[in-house]
Amino acid sequence: MNGADASPVDRADRVIPGACFGYTRIPDEDAFVASHGRGSRIFTTAETELVDYTLGSGPLLVGHAHPRVTRAIAEQAAKGTHFYAMNEPAISLAELIVESVPRVEAVKFCADGSQATFFAMRLARAATGRETVMKFAGAYHGHHDYALPSFPGVPEDRGAVGADSLGIPAGATEKIVVAGFNDLVSAQDMARAHRGDLAAIIVEPVQRSLPPAPGFLQGLRELADETGALLIFDEVVTGFRLSRGGAQERYGVHADLVALGKAVGGGTAVGAVAASRELIEYLVPGSPGASQRSFMSGTLNGNPLGAAAGLALLRELDEARGREAIAAHVAEVSAGLRDLAQSKSIALDLVGPDVFFDVVFAPREPVVDLASYLSSDRAASTRFGAEMLHRGIYVVPGAKFYVSSAHTSADAERFLAAADAALDVVASVHD
Ligand code: PMP
Repeated sequence: MNGADASPVDRADRVIPGACFGYTRIPDEDAFVASHGRGSRIFTTAETELVDYTLGSGPLLVGHAHPRVTRAIAEQAAKGTHFYAMNEPAISLAELIVESVPRVEAVKFCADGSQATFFAMRLARAATGRETVMKFAGAYHGHHDYALPSFPGVPEDRGAVGADSLGIPAGATEKIVVAGFNDLVSAQDMARAHRGDLAAIIVEPVQRSLPPAPGFLQGLRELADETGALLIFDEVVTGFRLSRGGAQERYGVHADLVALGKAVGGGTAVGAVAASRELIEYLVPGSPGASQRSFMSGTLNGNPLGAAAGLALLRELDEARGREAIAAHVAEVSAGLRDLAQSKSIALDLVGPDVFFDVVFAPREPVVDLASYLSSDRAASTRFGAEMLHRGIYVVPGAKFYVSSAHTSADAERFLAAADAALDVVASVHD
């Protein structure tokens, strides 16, 4: 097929190889082209309706095309989408972040979560005059050269060895060292071994879906203080989702630098680095103090369209008690899924905080870190996701399930009906 006869999926594949945007790909038989979304649903060009548990890889906390968000975008678009000049929505979004996120005094915008972690790492290096950054095995901090080492899961005993992507020069990863998530002893050993040059410890407070073990984040805080490194919380996923103040508020641990993305853009491309004013000033050209500054720029940084969308989403989430609705939905589908698994004698666990989750099969031990996560039957998780997708539940196979405040009990019912059949397939294939 070619030209006008080709299906949208085939047209996509011809010019966007793989017909996918990221590192994940959905099976060809269930490939679809989104036509529009509303609430918890995506409608495809083939006129199929999917219940969406991917939510744009997380940002859409109030669902698709929420009237408040679309109105804010339309009103701002009519006034101008972009100025490369200070503007009211950007100021208001920065104010909201400063009010919400503990200890944060100032914000610099960028275009996505990867840029936020990139600039946070650069800023930490600039502020400390050091170069080494410690991250955790299996963490995802975005696509850039300093973020990728050990994603999606280099065994911990390989330590800081290279990146998992071709095309990254060895030099870029030389100063990235890798410790074990939820393994404070390994973090202490690693940080102390690099103490004179450790610029930052960067952590996803909830790594993928793994909640932090009691004391782990606090231990990192103490380790950062002990070594003079800065603690970066990558709150691209957890920011505004775990609580209004993100993981810092939820777990009562303060970070020096916070990387934000996803929800802060309301479904448009926005990221942010947030910190004390003193730290953020390293990114300000010509400000008093240090003679040398750290560079940050970006054509679309702080554009009013993204800020208007982010503001609308975050305000709606708060005012409509969206997080409570999300947690209630997660509780409903989790309980149902556990019951189904039990009735079928399938060993299954749900891993995650109260607002999103991963489904883990045949865990050989409690799933608390990368090693125990990988020792579960990952193929079964991927198969489960694929079978759910096949039954109208949009999740990227193997990825975590995101929930919005627009999800309803009817969605939970559809989820559980699909899960009932998907679990049967998983049980028959993965015994
Ligand atoms: N950090 C975390 C924890 C993430 O989950 C992601 C994206 N999934 C990123 C950073 C990168 O964000 P983006 O895809 O917006 O660049």
